Amino acid sequence: MLMKKNIGLYLHIPFCISKCRYCDFLSKANQTSYFEPYVQALVKEIQAYGELLISYEVDSIFIGGGTPTILPIPLLEKILFELYRNFTIIPTAEITIEANPGTLSKIQLQRLNEININRLSIGLQAYQDSLLQKLGRGHRLEQFLENYAAARAVGFNNISIDLMFGLPEQKLEHWEETLSQIITLNPEHLSCYSLIIEEGTPFHILWGKNQLQLPTEDETLYMYRKCISMLTQAGYEHYEISNFAKRQKESKHNLKYWTGQEYIGLGVGAHSFFEQQRYNNIENIKQYIEKSHHLQKIQINHQMITLKESYEETMFLGLRLIDGVSMDVFYERFQKKIEDVYGIVLNKMVDQELLKIEQNKVKLTSKGLEVGNLVFEQFLLE
Ligand code: SF4
Repeated sequence: MLMKKNIGLYLHIPFCISKCRYCDFLSKANQTSYFEPYVQALVKEIQAYGELLISYEVDSIFIGGGTPTILPIPLLEKILFELYRNFTIIPTAEITIEANPGTLSKIQLQRLNEININRLSIGLQAYQDSLLQKLGRGHRLEQFLENYAAARAVGFNNISIDLMFGLPEQKLEHWEETLSQIITLNPEHLSCYSLIIEEGTPFHILWGKNQLQLPTEDETLYMYRKCISMLTQAGYEHYEISNFAKRQKESKHNLKYWTGQEYIGLGVGAHSFFEQQRYNNIENIKQYIEKSHHLQKIQINHQMITLKESYEETMFLGLRLIDGVSMDVFYERFQKKIEDVYGIVLNKMVDQELLKIEQNKVKLTSKGLEVGNLVFEQFLLE
């Protein structure tokens, strides 16, 4: 019997209660009237993929956004039902839903648990209401605490919390308080990202007018270091530049992105990597709703990954992992030694103490971690 290959699924829900002031994700507020037609369209796309994925089994599903938990439970049930009807989902699959505080009632959480969602990823960002307000987050700390307690009470034992540092008017004490308070809650996983001012956001306009009081680069770097030291001391493994997990609670889904495994993105604007091609869905919600049953009409930007791109991606995605890029895995994948492709770069980066080679793996040093993007650029081939 032919072994089925593993694949991950990402489903994009592009709706939020309100729009955060730093956000450039594909998500819109006040779109209640689109909820139902959008989910119907998503179901059609799922059905259209069914046949194509017959030789695959799904081992991770990530329902992201946006704020997927803004959808009424019957619509989320419909999505899960169709996923199970159309794909082979293994019993141990990691099934994550992203949620924002204020969109999770106890009944809702119970139902999510019952329909096999086994991991919650909650966006808190900061522990101080004053900072949440600055960010334009549509929730307060209290709602997060209530939702978190309710999630534990109904049995969620795999919860990730998103936090941010380098925020306007955020002091080091705020960040330390955020980390220490979250550590006491003992979530299984934490993602800690530094704020990026993206073009087209209200923060970008304020920043252009010099009206955003951001911490200095040194302060932001200090916050990153603090994050690593406090979380590792609290028993979290720092396994990716911005991600920390209790033992065996790493995000299986995100590991697929960093290790070059296949995944399908469903929903508006979602990205896929399938059969050596990268492509994404159109970003217009109305057009997606009209055409989603016809995959060719919603998929754009097909790009066959060349050997050169495959080398590059293996390095700059793999180096995000603290465990680094295995030289043996590189050889298995390309039938070529890593030194034969990147010998000069590796020597240079090791000399500059940005990379190290340990147990036959190429890894970022702690100095390299702080300037990751500069290191990754070195792996672009001519
Ligand atoms: S909740 Fe997330 S996706 Fe929605 S607007 Fe805020 S940052 Fe963007």
